[in-house]
Amino acid sequence: MTENNKNEQESDAKDEVEEQEQVKEETEVKTESEESKAKFTFKCTRCDKCCLARGPIPITFWDLELWARNGVVANFLPYMDIYSKPDGGIDLVLKPLPPPPKEGEEEKPRDPFGNVPIEDLLEVKCPLYNKEKKECLVYDNRPLSCRTYPLEFDGKNYTVVDVECPGIGEEGMTKEDLTEMRDTAKQMFFELTRMRIALPVLSQLISQKVMMDLMRQNMQAMSKMSDEDRAKLDEILKKDQEPQPE
Ligand code: SF4
Ligand code: SF4
Repeated sequence: MTENNKNEQESDAKDEVEEQEQVKEETEVKTESEESKAKFTFKCTRCDKCCLARGPIPITFWDLELWARNGVVANFLPYMDIYSKPDGGIDLVLKPLPPPPKEGEEEKPRDPFGNVPIEDLLEVKCPLYNKEKKECLVYDNRPLSCRTYPLEFDGKNYTVVDVECPGIGEEGMTKEDLTEMRDTAKQMFFELTRMRIALPVLSQLISQKVMMDLMRQNMQAMSKMSDEDRAKLDEILKKDQEPQPE
């Protein structure tokens, strides 16, 4: 055997192994509850279980761009919020509305930016799901996160985030469906990463700007005060700084 033939054979064998690895990656996912890998098949049954107990839905630049193109950003604004996660990070999310009061409880005014912590809304329905009609009110503009559910990609592995989703294990998924779902999960990962890099920077800059504007307005207001009013204000501030009796 010539040296060239030997090299070609080695290269073919390497390609074959890489191809096998690729096929393996395409058809296997890791579930949250089990470390072992299982063949993934999925067909959404449209049971809407995920819309009924979804918790905060992460929003990405992809979603904002889609909504801007379709002229519907304003429709989503009342439901958007910044979620400070337990791990210290922040996400832009669609925040669920507080649940209606239980029997006998007094009804409080509905306010999506009310003081209900997001942690208390993890099992609450998506604000854009119509329970009576059993439909998503924004289906054509639904976030990327809804398009890839329940499959997620973490940069290395695919994960099923809801092992109780009735669509898991349903037959009828074609190779093209699987490729599309994997691509959407990957896109969600990259878009979420982009948002998670940009959000803390933007939030810091905006807070600084708001703080500077407030300070500037206060200074302008003080410069317009009479000597008498300024003396009164000094007195109030001094009183506030005095130690209070225990
Ligand atoms: S993704 Fe799963 S839980 Fe959601 S509607 Fe489809 S089958 Fe139901
Ligand atoms: S946006 Fe639509 S698809 Fe997504 S969770 Fe809400 S109701 Fe369901």
